[in-house]
Amino acid sequence: MLTKAPKGTKDILPEEIHKWHYVETIFADICRRFGFSEIRTPLFEHTELFARGVGDTSDIVQKQMYSFEDYGGRSITLRPEGTAGVVRSYIEHKVFADGKPTKYWYEIPCFRYEQPQSGRQREFHQFGIEIFGSENMLADTEAISVAYTLFMELGIMDEIELRINSIGCPKCRSAYREVLRAFLAPKYDELCDTCKMRYEKNPMRILDCKSPICQELIKGAPVMLDHLCDECREAFSELQQDLSAAKISFTIDPGIVRGLDYYTKTAFEFVTTAIGAQGTVCGGGRYDHLIEELGGPAVPGVGFGLGIERLLLLLGTYEDRIPAQNPPDALIVFMGDPAKEKALSLLNALRTVGLAVELDVCARSTKNQFKHADKTGVRFAVILGENELASGKAAVKDMNTGEQQDVDFEALADFIKQEHIKIQRLDKRS
Ligand code: ATP
Ligand code: MG
Repeated sequence: MLTKAPKGTKDILPEEIHKWHYVETIFADICRRFGFSEIRTPLFEHTELFARGVGDTSDIVQKQMYSFEDYGGRSITLRPEGTAGVVRSYIEHKVFADGKPTKYWYEIPCFRYEQPQSGRQREFHQFGIEIFGSENMLADTEAISVAYTLFMELGIMDEIELRINSIGCPKCRSAYREVLRAFLAPKYDELCDTCKMRYEKNPMRILDCKSPICQELIKGAPVMLDHLCDECREAFSELQQDLSAAKISFTIDPGIVRGLDYYTKTAFEFVTTAIGAQGTVCGGGRYDHLIEELGGPAVPGVGFGLGIERLLLLLGTYEDRIPAQNPPDALIVFMGDPAKEKALSLLNALRTVGLAVELDVCARSTKNQFKHADKTGVRFAVILGENELASGKAAVKDMNTGEQQDVDFEALADFIKQEHIKIQRLDKRS
């Protein structure tokens, strides 16, 4: 047990970290271009924040939270999603007093006690964004556009479909709930226990139940889209116009409910069929009452959470889209103590000008240092022995071609840089 990571968690190993860096760099840059600022909030919050924020009839609060009492007797929960913490911070720091829309992005680990399977873990990671302070559907369009741009720039949008829905506001939803209850009443006894409770408190939640029996029972249920009030209907048609103007194609899916209770009006998902059953790569929507519900002023919001593991699963089906990891530029192979001293000063000089240079920290035999160079995949071995120290030149071996030439110590950095530029040109041509 000690040597096995807890169920539902995964190490991200050095062999795959470049994939994470790749999507992280692109996402951060898209957020910069869209005018979002990064925010980092604590990994845990008071349990009450999620119970209120995510909603106590949601799956998350019902059965997925990692909650515990700390030594001070407070109930603490590892964040299952990003929005509640960001809203808490926005209220705490009175950011709303700025009077302008606030646009945040973040990358976070999330924790949910779920049945692990491909694309579903207990610790997983999300990119997320939030826009606070706009009622206009332009905010929804921009939020959707951030995720869309990410998928476009990663070259995977052809495997993904954007689905949108409106789940109304408290006004039209209460009338719809009655219609839904009337539809479900004859099937009540067959519902799962959680859904029986939801029937009273929040019957819309039943539409999102994962149990196949409940899924069967809700077939043919009336949909929210047919029961929107005028304001919500107009907003939904405006959203469609704005998305079309932004050249973002979408389909309307009246079945989208979303797993969190706080959504109003817009709900959307980016879905793929390429990675198995857990195909929702990104989910989000509008939450016009959440900030107020959590003790802030009446400020509307819209945002999304995008599962990075699912994104990488999908990207993995296009292996060549992810640039390979760069090996270090050079490895210094040294023989004897005087050469070791020279190696240490050369390392400094080369690293200062930006080159990635290593040496064998085990100081093994020359043969093994070369083996190490092979294993690391470095392009150049910089060889230092007695002869090299005497002549003031290092022997530089191109590990790909086996060619070797002598280079003045002072000229080493420029030499390696120049050779790299040449090699890159050749690589591009082939
Ligand atoms: P699902 O219906 O798949 O459980 P959800 O509605 O619970 O998703 P959200 O809470 O909206 O999902 O989270 C946003 C995104 O985070 C999801 O679309 C998905 O990509 C990712 N995600 C959610 N839960 C997990 C998990 N347990 N493991 C990996 N990724 C997840
Ligand atoms: Mg879920």
